[in-house]
Amino acid sequence: MDEQKRKRVVILGGGFAGVYTAIHLEKALRRRDDLEIVLVNKENYFVFQPMLAEVVSGSIGILDTVSPIRRMLPRTDLHVREIESIDIGTQTVITTPGFIPQPNVIHYDHLVLALGNVTDFRGLRGLPEHAIPFKNLSDALYIRNHVIHALEEAAIEHMNVELRKQLLTFVVAGGGFSGVEVVAELNDFVRQVIRNYPQLNPNDLRVVLLHAQDRILPELDKELALYAQNILTRRGVEILLKTRLEAATGDEAVIAGGIRIPSKTLISTVPSSPNPLIDGLDLPKEKGRLKVDSSLLVQGTTNVWALGDCALVPTVDGGTCPPTAQFAIRQGKTAAHNILASIQGGEHKAFQFKELGKLGALGHRSAVAQVFGVNVSGFIAWFLWRSIYLMKLPGWGRRMKVAASWTFDLFLPPELVQLKLTNSMGVAHEHFEPGQEIFHQGDLGDRIYIIAKGHAEVVHHDNGSDILLARLGPGEYFGEMALLNQTTRNATIRCQEPLDVLSIHKREFSVLAANLPAMRESFEQVMKKRRQGTAVQVPHGLSTDYTDGKE
Ligand SMILES: Cc1cc2nc3c(=O)[nH]c(=O)nc-3n(C[C@H](O)[C@H](O)[C@H](O)COP(=O)(O)OP(=O)(O)OC[C@H]3O[C@@H](n4cnc5c(N)ncnc54)[C@H](O)[C@@H]3O)c2cc1C
Repeated sequence: MDEQKRKRVVILGGGFAGVYTAIHLEKALRRRDDLEIVLVNKENYFVFQPMLAEVVSGSIGILDTVSPIRRMLPRTDLHVREIESIDIGTQTVITTPGFIPQPNVIHYDHLVLALGNVTDFRGLRGLPEHAIPFKNLSDALYIRNHVIHALEEAAIEHMNVELRKQLLTFVVAGGGFSGVEVVAELNDFVRQVIRNYPQLNPNDLRVVLLHAQDRILPELDKELALYAQNILTRRGVEILLKTRLEAATGDEAVIAGGIRIPSKTLISTVPSSPNPLIDGLDLPKEKGRLKVDSSLLVQGTTNVWALGDCALVPTVDGGTCPPTAQFAIRQGKTAAHNILASIQGGEHKAFQFKELGKLGALGHRSAVAQVFGVNVSGFIAWFLWRSIYLMKLPGWGRRMKVAASWTFDLFLPPELVQLKLTNSMGVAHEHFEPGQEIFHQGDLGDRIYIIAKGHAEVVHHDNGSDILLARLGPGEYFGEMALLNQTTRNATIRCQEPLDVLSIHKREFSVLAANLPAMRESFEQVMKKRRQGTAVQVPHGLSTDYTDGKE
């Protein structure tokens, strides 16, 4: 097939909406190769979010809720990268650099926006620093490890009774489905495993659910919501209704009105906000969600599609679809059909789907369900919940693993292993050998480097020749210009002798620069001097040519 004529569909997001769009595109294409499908997602796996709460309690294994996207989509070109920007005008998407800091630009003929939403704590005092979101696998894993850590600390805290109580208090904010499911699993977990801590008194455990409205699970009929409230209360969850979380510190959750709950664990499933990438697009939106027509085409465009939690999709009865997996999966099928119809010529289909029901797990073999208009609760609802979601999991292998985990869970005590995972390479020691290039002119600026030992050359390539701009040694730094100016690298840094550096990722560097004005000023002064080619203190001789805003 002529590469020029091959159309490229780029799907952003590998959640329910994005993955199911690609699944249906692959199905429709079969052996044809006149369409290229590219999917960009932060992770190389798809998360089955409805079962995430069970990872917290260990009812299922850590990897049981996720499936590798490559296996689900063998014909799709998967880019495991963070999306940095989307340019509708030039029909391009830019992703963050990988091992080599070069920009990755993806051109599209059709764009599918399936980026979901985010839990956004901005503007809420102390929440960005101290509240834990509950949205993806890493959150579930973090919560689980944090809760076990709090129990371990409480077990050896003999002197400070208040601290021990604080460690044994777990607060969840948000009484929607995800908040209720996580509080139920967390409550079951801590009340079961406390038996393994003879130093701790189960009566000191406190699990609190905060909800702003007058009943939890507002998505369900009142009768079912009250049933859920009753069950949770009987099992020891304190439910505080009409209570809004206002702020947080590392020691307490602060409720509007001034009440403070001492706790070292605060999980918040609210507020839900649009993905910042969607927020930044100049496309029609309502409450942060992209406005699409019934074919899922973003209003006013001919090749940009949006679905799932980031889109406001009209329903046949004049309403809009709720942000649930049930809808995202079906929207994927409609989007795939309509994209192909746009490319090959054909009728667009309108998205039509009537919700089948709603299910919420309450832990410990009980749940609430509204299926085909019938309300069910207790064990039958729980059985229904497990059967339906088991069948919805992608792949028989995964289904069998989860079924086995659930079976063992009936007889065995919950897993109590705390996995200590170290995070991010925000600040790292790096080593380079002579001749190696640390970064190259034209690369994206992703880190700043401080030389600990050794020397490096700053070289500018111009019209096929290399101009040596400077020689840098211990205590000096390079790479700040591209970060501060948000541009690409203006020069290449080449290692002359074995070089040890401390490198700081732009994320951490931006935080430092924003909060330490003196540091930012000092960087800006050096930058200015470097631009002017004047006396920057560089030992071992600086080239006179250190001009033109080169690094
Ligand atoms: C804990 C929990 C329980 C739930 N339970 C249910 C349930 O029982 N039933 C139900 O129907 N719904 C449930 N939902 C809601 C359901 O999961 C969502 O409606 C569904 O996931 C929406 O799919 P989506 O594809 O639009 O977004 P998502 O599934 O959120 O997918 C978005 C994808 O985009 C990726 N992404 C975002 N930004 C970037 C970026 N900058 N670069 C690269 N990739 C990016 C993300 O990594 C993610 O993979 C639950 C949600 C949660 C959080």
